[in-house]
Amino acid sequence: MIYNEEFETLPREALEALQLKRLRQVVARVYHTVNFYKKSFDKAGVSPDDLRTLNDLQRFPFTVKQDLRDNYPFGLFAVPMSNVVRLHASSGTTGASTVVGYTKHDIEIWTELVGRCFVAAGLTKNDIIHNAYGYGLFTGGLGAHYGAEKIGASVIPMSGGNTKRQIMILQDFGPTAICCTPSYALNLAEQGRAMGVDMRALKLRVGIFGAEPWSEKMRGEIEKALNLTALNIYGLSEIMGPGVAMECSEERNGMHIYEDNFLVETIDPQTGEVLPPGTEGEIVFTTLTKEAFPLIRYRTRDIARLNLTPCRCGRTHYRLERIVGRSDDMLIIRGVNVFPSQIEAVLVGIDGLEPYYQLIVDREGTLDTLEVQVEVTEKQFAGADEIKVIQRLEKSLIKDMKDYLGITAKVKLVEPKSIQRSFGKANRVIDKRKI
Ligand SMILES: [Zn+2]
Repeated sequence: MIYNEEFETLPREALEALQLKRLRQVVARVYHTVNFYKKSFDKAGVSPDDLRTLNDLQRFPFTVKQDLRDNYPFGLFAVPMSNVVRLHASSGTTGASTVVGYTKHDIEIWTELVGRCFVAAGLTKNDIIHNAYGYGLFTGGLGAHYGAEKIGASVIPMSGGNTKRQIMILQDFGPTAICCTPSYALNLAEQGRAMGVDMRALKLRVGIFGAEPWSEKMRGEIEKALNLTALNIYGLSEIMGPGVAMECSEERNGMHIYEDNFLVETIDPQTGEVLPPGTEGEIVFTTLTKEAFPLIRYRTRDIARLNLTPCRCGRTHYRLERIVGRSDDMLIIRGVNVFPSQIEAVLVGIDGLEPYYQLIVDREGTLDTLEVQVEVTEKQFAGADEIKVIQRLEKSLIKDMKDYLGITAKVKLVEPKSIQRSFGKANRVIDKRKI
C-alpha cells in the first residue's frame, strides 16, 4: 500500500522537475532570510539565480553540524518565531546541542511523511503501535506519534526506559507494531525472557527500527527474538526527524527517500566531491519543503549508498541502503577504515555469542590497537569445557576480523550481562586514544 500514490510514484522526470522548482524556491528564500546563507553563498560566489539545473547545486557550499552550533539556538531559522509551533533539540553529547524549529506546515508534512512510513510498513488503522522512541526534545517520540495517529492507528506513547513496564504493556495491550532503536528491541527481548515472558508469543508483527546503524544479522536476531518483521527507518533531527526514508515491506531492501521533500547527494567525505549516484559515500541532504528550518547541502556524516533500481512496490523514490557507519565514527585502525557496524556484522549470529559488544580503541606506542569484547551466552559460559571452547571461539573471531575487515584485533569474550545495556542509542566504542 502507498500513502501518497501521486507523489511517491512520480516518474523520475516529473520528480526532478518538481525538485528543481522547489530547490530554486528554498535557496532563494534562505538567501534572503537567513544571514548565514547570505554570507556563505556570497563567499562562495554563488547566488540563487545560478540554479538552472539540479547539478548546479554542486557549486553551493555545504552546511555542517558546526554551523548549527555556531548559530545556536535560533540563528538558522528562516521564519519569525511567531510562525514556529514546535522546537526540538539534539542531545548534544559532544558540544552544544542543535536546535530545530517547525511551522504548522512543517509539522503537517512531517506527519504525512511518517504516515507514509507506517503505510510502507504495511500498517493500517487497525494496528496498535507501541512507540518506545523517547518523547521530549528528541524528535523520535513525537515524530512517530503524529504519523501513527495520521494513519488512524492506536498509539501507545510509551517513550523510552522503564523496560519492565514496557514488557507488561506489550503483554496487556497487545500492540501489533513497535518503534524503537534496534539495540533497545534486543534489550526488551532479553529482559522479557528473563522475566519468564514468551516474547515470541506477543501480538507484535512489525517492528520499525532506526536512530542508530544496525546490520542485516542484527535484523535476523531481532526477528527471531520477537517473532516479527523488522523494518528500517531513517531520519535525523536536523533534516526533520524520523521519516526521511523508510523501507517498504515489499522488498525490505533499502529505504525509499521521500525525494519530493528531500534532495539527496552522495559525496566523498574527504574531498567533498560529488560522487555518481549509487557510489558509497557520505549522504548530503537539502530540504525542499521545510519552512522554519531549511537546510542546504547538509552533511549527515552517514556513509551509505543509493540504490537506483526500480522497486517492486511501485515507488519511484531512490532507496538509501543500510548506513555503513558515520564518517565521524569511522575508526582508523592502523590505516584501515572500519565502522563499528561492520564489526557487528561479523559478530552477530555466531553460535555461543550474545549480540552485545564493545570496542576499545587504544594506542601502544604509535600503533592503534582494537579490542573487541563480546558476551558469550549463559549456556556457553556454563559449559563443561568452557575455557577450551572460549579460546577456540576467540581464535576463530580473530581470523574472521582479519578475513572480512582486514584488521588485526584482540578478541575478549566476556561473561553474560557484563556489557552495559542501552536504553536509546548504544554507545559501543570506547576510544582511549583521546585521553
Ligand atoms: Zn519499495
